[in-house]
Amino acid sequence: ATPTSVMVGSGRAAQVGILFKEGKFLEVLGKATTIVLDKTGTITKGEPQVTDTYVHDGNERAFFEIVGAVESASGHPIANAIMRAARQRVVKFPQANQAEAIPGYGMQATVNGQQTLISNPTYFMEQKIHIPRDAKRMITKLERAGKTVVVAAIQSRFAGIIAIADELKPSSCSAISRLRKMGIDVMMLTGDNQAAAQSIARKTGINKVQANVPPQRKAEIIQTLQKKRGKVVMVGDGINDAPALTVADVGIAIGTGSDIAIESGDITVIKGDLSKVVEAVKLSKATMTNIK
Ligand code: ADP
Ligand code: MG
Repeated sequence: ATPTSVMVGSGRAAQVGILFKEGKFLEVLGKATTIVLDKTGTITKGEPQVTDTYVHDGNERAFFEIVGAVESASGHPIANAIMRAARQRVVKFPQANQAEAIPGYGMQATVNGQQTLISNPTYFMEQKIHIPRDAKRMITKLERAGKTVVVAAIQSRFAGIIAIADELKPSSCSAISRLRKMGIDVMMLTGDNQAAAQSIARKTGINKVQANVPPQRKAEIIQTLQKKRGKVVMVGDGINDAPALTVADVGIAIGTGSDIAIESGDITVIKGDLSKVVEAVKLSKATMTNIK
């Protein structure tokens, strides 16, 4: 590859907000057979809103005090949605201690001396935290409606449900169809539930979806794809996606992108949305044509 054309290509990319960490990623991108997309914050806006709340016992304000205290320590889009809802009901939150993210699952902390967990229902099963039957029914109904459902437990006892819905970014549908027209296989991997994943996949015309995939597993799936089909690109918003972004042949952090992910490896940063990924692939192909 001639260094000059790669430099020109990288320069042009930078002008439109695409920062290649190294020239070689610009070269590899155009050869991608498969592009794997994260859902939350990548295909969707990542600014979800709380749509439904169910408090098992006690009042809603007390529930949001505790839940808000825990989520104030998380930067996840879901946490931000919960915080927006919590601030409408609570003025001052108690202190959260030993706050800790469970990547791909949820968040935990000690509030008012009580161990509090907020996560997806799958993690509750793993932790053997019992969810009452009527609550389970509510969860199924909300998930079928395409919502992301998180559950809260205080001292390992089920405390309530929060449902959240996210919107597509305006350009996602057209960007995904343009990638597919270029002959690239588009796949979605998400830590979110099957129904929410399917609902977004249907709207964007993606037919390969895997849901309930924790961050480390995303990386493993990418490695399997690399063995089967060659160059694999991973696009994520950076939050929780660091392992997958790092193992991909080109890891693209889109949007805000958490600093952790950006520092964690050979990652390309794109400001904006998936239409920028389409531009980047085109630029890469054009650059490679000039090299030949
Ligand atoms: P995605 O792959 O769609 O970006 P993530 O891997 O970031 O999703 O998160 C997967 C799931 O873990 C979320 O859908 C949610 O159910 C749960 N989760 C993650 N972070 C939090 C949090 N801070 N509070 C509650 N639930 C969370
Ligand atoms: Mg994400």
